[in-house]
Parts: sequence; C-alpha cells; structure tokens
Amino acid sequence: MKLIKGFKDIYPLSDKVVENTSIFNSVKEIITEIAKRYNFQEIITPVIENKDTFTTGIGSDTDIVSKEMYDFYLFKEGKVDKSSIYSLRPEGTAAVIRSYIEQSMDKKRKINKLYYFGPMFRYERSQKGRYRQFNQMGIELIGSDNIYYEYEIISLAIDILENLEIKNFDLEINSIGNEQSLKKLSKEVIKFTEQNKSKINSDDLQIVKKNPLRFLDKAINKYNFKDVPRAEEFLDNNSKSRFKDLTDILDENKILYKINNQLVRGIDYYNDLVFEIKSSELGSQDTILAGGRYDNLVKKFNGSQTSCVGFAAGVERLLLLLSNQFIQKIEISTEFYVIYQNQSFQNYANEVTKMLRKLGKNVEMDQEYRSFTKQLKHANKIKSKKVVIIGEKEYKNKQILLKDMITGQEELFDIGKLSTKIT
Ligand code: ATP
Ligand code: MG
Repeated sequence: MKLIKGFKDIYPLSDKVVENTSIFNSVKEIITEIAKRYNFQEIITPVIENKDTFTTGIGSDTDIVSKEMYDFYLFKEGKVDKSSIYSLRPEGTAAVIRSYIEQSMDKKRKINKLYYFGPMFRYERSQKGRYRQFNQMGIELIGSDNIYYEYEIISLAIDILENLEIKNFDLEINSIGNEQSLKKLSKEVIKFTEQNKSKINSDDLQIVKKNPLRFLDKAINKYNFKDVPRAEEFLDNNSKSRFKDLTDILDENKILYKINNQLVRGIDYYNDLVFEIKSSELGSQDTILAGGRYDNLVKKFNGSQTSCVGFAAGVERLLLLLSNQFIQKIEISTEFYVIYQNQSFQNYANEVTKMLRKLGKNVEMDQEYRSFTKQLKHANKIKSKKVVIIGEKEYKNKQILLKDMITGQEELFDIGKLSTKIT
C-alpha cells in the first residue's frame, strides 16, 4: 500500500516539519489563537461541495477550476450517478460564502468575522511547498467595506507571522479596482498581447484568450515587457481614494509594504484591494498568504450586495519557514517520566502516575520494566521535562524524588504533598 502522490501523512516524531503532528498542532493552536484575539470565530464547512460552488465562486476560467480540482460522481449500485458532480474543496472562501448565505448569518450579525482551518485539495505538480492536499487557515470579514477592516486583517496576518517568529517577509499590496476597471484592463491586455504576439508563446496566448487577467497573474514574469497594462491606469476615483486611504493607515501604523502594480491574483472574485505576503526563503513557491476584497461574491451566489475582505494562509508554507529554535520551543515533549528502581515498586509507580494524570499532567511510564538506567536514558531521549524517581527509600517512605531535567534541581517529598508541589 502506498500514499497517493502529492499527499502526506502527519505523524508523531517525523523529522520533516510539514509531517510532524506536534509541530503542526502547535502552529495550528498559535494561529487560531491569534484569529480569536481579533474576535474571529471558527466556521467548519464540509471538505466536499457541489462543483458549482467553485465554478461560480472562483470562476471557471481560473487555473484552480479548469485544471486543479478533484471532481467526482457517486458510484451507486455499480453505476455512475451523473446527476450530481462534487468537488473536493480547493480553497475556503467560496464555501464559506455559500454557508453564510444558506445559514442566513447576516440575520445574526451585521458583520460576520469568520476563520477556518483545514485541508484543501488541488491537483497540481507536487514540489516543495506545493502539495495536492495542503492546509489553509483563512480569515473572512463579511459585511463591511470599511478600510480599517482591511488594515485590521493585514495586521492579523502580520501578527501570525510575528508570533511564529517568521522574519524576512514582504507585504505586497495593489488595487485592481472595480468590475469596470477590470474589464478595461482585460481589454488592454488583449490589445497588448496582440501587438506582441510574436514574442508570446502559444500556451500563454491561450491563457489570454480565456482570461486576460490570468496572463498578468501567472505568465507575465517570463517576458521582459515594458509598458504592460497596469491595473492602476484604470482605477476610478473611488478606488484610487480607497487605496490611498489604506496606504495612509498602513504608514501611520508603521506597517511596511510594497506596492506591486502587477499583482492581480488568479481568482475572479476580487475587487479593489489585493495583497500577498511573500518570503524569499521559500524558493519558487514564495507566497505565504494571499487575499483581498471581494464585494461581489455574495451577490453572485444570489445573496444581497455584501462587502467582504479576507485572506488565506498556506499552513505548510508557514511550517517551512519556522526556525529550528522556534521548533524546539513549540515541539511538545513529555511532561513527566516516572522511573522506578525495582520491579516490585511498579504498583507504587503506577499510583504516582495515576495521581499526576489526575492533576492533568502528561506522564510516561515504562510498564515493561527495563533497568533503571534504561528508563532514565529513555526519559532523556524523549526529552521529558521532569522525572519522578522511585528508589528503595522513596518506596518505603511513600515519598518521591522529583527532578527537573532542565534546571537539574531535585526535591524529595511525601506523596501526599504531590498536588501542592506540582503546579
Ligand atoms: P500559488 O501562486 O502558489 O499557486 P495561489 O494563488 O494558487 O498560489 P491561493 O489560492 O491564493 O494560492 O492560496 C493561498 C495560499 O495557500 C497560498 O499563498 C499558499 O501559501 C497556499 N497554497 C496554495 N496552493 C497550495 C498548494 N498546492 N500546496 C501548498 N500550499 C498551497
Ligand atoms: Mg496555485
């Protein structure tokens, strides 16, 4: 039996940071904790949706929908049932908005602040930082177009990186304007590529034909063109002033950013603000997180006009950026190891173990009774923070010797004092 290519197991003690349960869970805890600090609440949607949630939401001409989705029919009683087509979710936003409308969340709160964490699926070439099943943490603020919310979610994104002690990242922002500006930009891209036809390869010309903006998103970097049409040229006054207001707020709050006027993003639903945070330490898959404003998606799903802004972060890319120092700090190790010197003390050792577990502690004990030195070696190997030693004297006097493996400090006390000695 073998894993499917592009998929991975996440398991204890893995040497690979993206496959290690303890590191994965600690990072999940840190980043969801930050979302909660900003008062976002978790939404959990299924990993499977009707395919049209994504074709309508993300756009059928996008890479994700046209090339990367795992779609399937149900197989019933030996027959393929073609009445419905399902997809494993390739991203979170479309499903969150589907749910927002279906569950009438607007009736409960005027502004809904939601976060999600979970697996996404995309059929693409697997390589470092790119998997066919990966995890995203996403933030969606639904129900306001206030620029201060744009500032707030950008701050949240930066807080996540800072709390993971990730350094050397760049925030890139741009405004792509509204639907009209995007239409004008698309037209200009078509005109531009026609004029430069001889220099553009046929695959990229196909991209332009299907979705001109995708050419700017994915293909443009290959060519050394000057005077490529830029979103900036087609912004109306409202979009211009929104972008100016945001950069003013970012300046005021000393948030460093670069304006990247080539940034358009490969998903149909964005308008005005788009942003990405990148790290050169990731190699070619350098985007850690990406997002923007999407004021038309709710309407597209037959809801009422609702402004939204959000982002999604690639959890594996965050994991790949963690320093060894930070990993050491967050990797969970055994709290207590109860060591007993003689097999006849095993019942007493189990009594102590049980008491510690009742106090909520994580405790390891060797039930196979290997020698005292072997138990101690094992406690060291699994990096136990504290060791409880039960020797002849401790056993007789109903005491324990508690040793802190980090400071080396030892303390001998009666078992009855356990709960007061352990905090
Ligand atoms: P890319 O340009 O890397 O393909 P994207 O534009 O397809 O990214 P988004 O849809 O914006 O990515 O997803 C947000 C984040 O999710 C990305 O910035 C990245 O960190 C992560 N991500 C996307 N696809 C993958 C994947 N196949 N494997 C791991 N992480 C991914
Ligand atoms: Mg992609």
